[in-house]
Amino acid sequence: MTSAVVVGSGPNGLAAAVVLARAGITVTVLEAADEIGGGTRSAQLTIPGMIHDVCSATHPTGVASPFFRFLDLGRHGLEWLWPEVDAVHPIDGGRAGVMFRDLDRTAELLGKDGKKWRSLYAPLVKHSDALIDELFQPIIHVPKHPITLAKFGSRALAPATWIARRWETDEARGLFAGMAAHAIYPLNRPTTGGLGLMFGMTGHAYGWPVAKGGSSAIAHALAAEIVEHGGTIETGHEVTELPEADIVLFDTTPAGVLKIAGDRLPGRVRRPFTKWRRGPGVFKVDFAVDGGVPWTNEWARKAGTVHVAGTIEQLNAAEKEVHAGRMPEHPFVLLCQQYLADPGRSVGDVHPVWAYAHVPQGYTGDATEALIAQIERFAPGFRERIVAKAVTTPAQLEAHNANYLGGDIAGGANDAWQVVMRPRASTNPYSLGVKGLYLCSASTPPGAGVHGMGGFRAATAAMADL
Ligand SMILES: Cc1cc2nc3c(=O)[nH]c(=O)nc-3n(C[C@H](O)[C@H](O)[C@H](O)COP(=O)(O)OP(=O)(O)OC[C@H]3O[C@@H](n4cnc5c(N)ncnc54)[C@H](O)[C@@H]3O)c2cc1C
Repeated sequence: MTSAVVVGSGPNGLAAAVVLARAGITVTVLEAADEIGGGTRSAQLTIPGMIHDVCSATHPTGVASPFFRFLDLGRHGLEWLWPEVDAVHPIDGGRAGVMFRDLDRTAELLGKDGKKWRSLYAPLVKHSDALIDELFQPIIHVPKHPITLAKFGSRALAPATWIARRWETDEARGLFAGMAAHAIYPLNRPTTGGLGLMFGMTGHAYGWPVAKGGSSAIAHALAAEIVEHGGTIETGHEVTELPEADIVLFDTTPAGVLKIAGDRLPGRVRRPFTKWRRGPGVFKVDFAVDGGVPWTNEWARKAGTVHVAGTIEQLNAAEKEVHAGRMPEHPFVLLCQQYLADPGRSVGDVHPVWAYAHVPQGYTGDATEALIAQIERFAPGFRERIVAKAVTTPAQLEAHNANYLGGDIAGGANDAWQVVMRPRASTNPYSLGVKGLYLCSASTPPGAGVHGMGGFRAATAAMADL
């Protein structure tokens, strides 16, 4: 009987194990931490009874994931909950760009830029299932929808700042920039526009939901599927040597593979893995907030996600500083209010608020004040409402998950080369060039995010090789 080991139980590792277990392969998942889930864990970080997401918070890629949709994870208790507003991008003076799932409502609120917002996103939303199918796989592939993909790709390779030139208002330009900033890369660099297009499309096509009860519900649903098909999962088991099995899949970074099996890899794989570049870090602060964040802009009080940075110019200036290894005075802050869609996470009128700032790779300073000051700028009085907070530095992120090197949560820098050739130039980027060994993490296509598609495709490649 064929045996398989998956190293790591992030969403990609679990997804890979699901594919193998469903095919009747004897699969074991080995997880270093005491708990499964990697970037999909939830915990009580501040006050008793309050549920915080330790890593991922909002799930546009999860709800859009073809593999998750095929699995019907609702059978194992996963329930998506949508806030009234997907995302808000506040601008000084109480203004904001507001993204609803409804494209027309979004366009209406964007005023004179609304028509151009609609004309950019309407064709993407119309073909969203086809586009997700094309984008959630290696860039080098034979497309099923070549014209749709070519139209998207010709724009997606552009820098976000170029695409944003079509709009006049700070609200529309900022709203697009906030989505593109998920690349954690300066917005005047190629391919950053692609994330702005992708996140806007998912927002309008599927919405930006949270998982009821916390993101850990995603990991638990995948784990239930594995166990149902005879697989096993061991926690507290850090893998330091190559496990004995017909197939080994690594839900790790290229650096993680080099540590465990570097001497087994051919030069064509080892060389690019040795040169694999880390992205900037994040500095996370979870808050328990009395009455919620007092945003000046009323839509921000209803939004699952708030991109806190100001204008596109201010955001890009912050990202450039971070990229150059300097901590900006006014960093980009990503803030989520999952409790608005999932009230069960709060304790009475005290609510969990999740936030992180982009900081330089391996940043060792304290970004707490800079992060709070950015929120306070658009929500005066926020500071006084903080009941408790929990800080996670880049070093602590790495200590809790070896994949988050120096606080890099994306599995490697999203520069143009690493976005396209992830993690190396190959038609089978999941293969490690040795029979039976594969990489399946966010360092493979389609990259970071909770969607399980790296795991699904790596396991599918492994079975095809068998
Ligand atoms: C703070 C933060 C916020 C985020 N926000 C979002 C968000 O809102 N939405 C979203 O979609 N994504 C978000 N992400 C990104 C998302 O969580 C990741 O892209 C995703 O979890 C990657 O999945 P993965 O399976 O590749 O790896 P991971 O989830 O990182 O899991 C890897 C697992 O492998 C284990 N491991 C590593 N080495 C070994 C070893 N040698 N032996 C055994 N086990 C090992 C680790 O302990 C870990 O459990 C966020 C990430 C972070 C950190």
